[in-house]
Amino acid sequence: MSPSPVIAPLDVLDGMSDMIGSKTVIPAPLQSSADAFPALVSTIISLRTRDAVTTQVSAAVYRRAPDPVTMASMEQEELEELLRPAGFYRRKAGQLIRIAAQILEEHDGMVPNSREALLALPGVGLKTANFVLGMVFGIPSICVDVHVHRISNRLGLVSTSTPEDTEVALRNIFPEDWWSRINHVMVRFGQTICRPVGPRCAECLFRGWCPEAASRISQHELDKRSGSR
Ligand code: SF4
Repeated sequence: MSPSPVIAPLDVLDGMSDMIGSKTVIPAPLQSSADAFPALVSTIISLRTRDAVTTQVSAAVYRRAPDPVTMASMEQEELEELLRPAGFYRRKAGQLIRIAAQILEEHDGMVPNSREALLALPGVGLKTANFVLGMVFGIPSICVDVHVHRISNRLGLVSTSTPEDTEVALRNIFPEDWWSRINHVMVRFGQTICRPVGPRCAECLFRGWCPEAASRISQHELDKRSGSR
């Protein structure tokens, strides 16, 4: 059974928003089919790639192949060269060309807006599908990446071993109109406070009840901090 947080999940998300400040702007869905293909391409480029590199490489790919027709007709070697600064550039080049071809053949050149159809595209997993659904089409979805999976488990919101299970569990505890917000807030929280290595528990508002905090900071430190509030 998963441990229960002592505050409601929605308050947890609000607490994270407070801690990360107003820097996290949750972008409005693009809701334009013309934007959908570049968004899908950029999401695939971003896998295991730093944000700055993703931005730079996505811009270069977009200039050369802004639509599925152009992408599908590219030589893989040329696309590999554009993708080279990103991780797994050979695999991503082949994947992107196959995705473009499938979108042309099966969806009249339009990125599909259903989870099933997105998951049927070559190499597209739940994380990418959910991100595109929420980001492009404004369809409520929970994009579970490493940050969302780690933080949800550290806090005891869920007790899961895979991102897929985390998504199912989070869908059960958050109302639908909060789903798209979860990724944006937890990613920023995970980059700045609840970091994968060296989480800043002593500065975290959840340190008094977070199950992980006890093993991260000493009781002495906890007492000192609660006494100073
Ligand atoms: S107390 Fe530590 S482990 Fe728990 S949420 Fe905060 S930073 Fe993460």
